Amino acid sequence: MTSYSICTHPECNKGYLSEIGSKRNVCGIHKYPLLAKCFFCGESSLTPEDTFCTFCGVNIKETMKDVLTIFFIAKVVAGVKLKLHPLTPVYVNRVNEDYKEYFPVMALLEAGPNGKHSIDENLNRELRKIEEDDFNDFLDKFSKKNKTYLTQ
Ligand SMILES: [Zn+2]
Ligand SMILES: [Zn+2]
Repeated sequence: MTSYSICTHPECNKGYLSEIGSKRNVCGIHKYPLLAKCFFCGESSLTPEDTFCTFCGVNIKETMKDVLTIFFIAKVVAGVKLKLHPLTPVYVNRVNEDYKEYFPVMALLEAGPNGKHSIDENLNRELRKIEEDDFNDFLDKFSKKNKTYLTQ
């Protein structure tokens, strides 16, 4: 099965072939980070025209912005390994250790100020505005809303 990295922009249906050694990590049109794997089940055969993950059934289109927010806050804003309560260790590990497999652009963004030009400026500003208290609240809501799919 052909696997793609998909654009996290809510109105984008673009996918980019996840070739080995591919350098693309943002959408060429939106400059939004590309998502390479399903956060919920770890499946890597995402297809741009599917709304739902073909493996676990989660609504990828509806959840990808939230998933992006979690990775961005943990890797770029906080820059430390967060406990990410109330997620289970499997998901905490995805965010803290395997983040490049999910969002390859995170490696650039966490590297410093130059990385901020890699993604859309408004998105960058929007995600940086989320405060610590709001983030904890956000995580609570995220895990409650998606508990059917956060099964690992
Ligand atoms: Zn796009
Ligand atoms: Zn899935």
